[in-house]
Amino acid sequence: MDTAGSMLYEGKAKKIFAAARPDQVVHYFKDDATAFNAEKRGTIVDKGVVNNKVSERLFTLIEENRISTHFLKRLSDREMLTKKVAIVPVEVVVRNLVAGSLAKRLGLPVGDAIEPAIVEFYYKNDALGDPLVNDDHLRLMNVATPGVLRELRELAHKVNAVLKPFFAERKMQLVDFKLEFGLFHNKLILADEISPDTCRFWDMGTGESMDKDRFRKDMGKIEEAYQEVLKRVCG
Ligand code: UDP
Repeated sequence: MDTAGSMLYEGKAKKIFAAARPDQVVHYFKDDATAFNAEKRGTIVDKGVVNNKVSERLFTLIEENRISTHFLKRLSDREMLTKKVAIVPVEVVVRNLVAGSLAKRLGLPVGDAIEPAIVEFYYKNDALGDPLVNDDHLRLMNVATPGVLRELRELAHKVNAVLKPFFAERKMQLVDFKLEFGLFHNKLILADEISPDTCRFWDMGTGESMDKDRFRKDMGKIEEAYQEVLKRVCG
């Protein structure tokens, strides 16, 4: 039986419920959208359905490429059964093109290619606003050992090598994305979600944003963009 039990945690975009097995949880994907450390709030109609189905497809693809993830199965439009992991409080960002905070921080032109891709670490802490950190900072805070950080970087590059061509085939540029990892029986596995909330996609024909930037920057046609991503990824 995989129906959800009591709620264990409510995040900005998901609720986590107990599953029948103690080593599994059920994720419920909400339509709530937040940006800028939750200063901006809103709703994207059916975002939860899109993010659940897109994550299912991408986790399945990643597993097919022999990278372990927490994904077990999709239970409904908005629910996914996963392994229960201890999340490593590090947001791992991979960048193929200059955009967002990188363009702002370093004054680089938006859209410039980054070859080879770069990986950044952010310390997952809402009170601090998820600061950019380096390996030494994470070691200082006892968040991760050098060995774990090496593995996170390697896994992030491997995931990028799988996702970048997958999106290119669908005429989408994978500009950048954020990954989270968790420990399951002492092994690092990919967790959280991979969706238009956590990636930047640019349409290869028009260059238009097909992701949460449409919400962050009030660009309109937000729901349409999420549905288009669902169509290209799962259609
Ligand atoms: N990202 C995310 N959650 C965060 C911060 C960033 O999923 O809390 C994703 C974001 O969608 C983008 C990538 O990570 O695909 C890089 O984001 P960036 O550092 O440019 O920050 P932003 O401009 O989104 O503030």
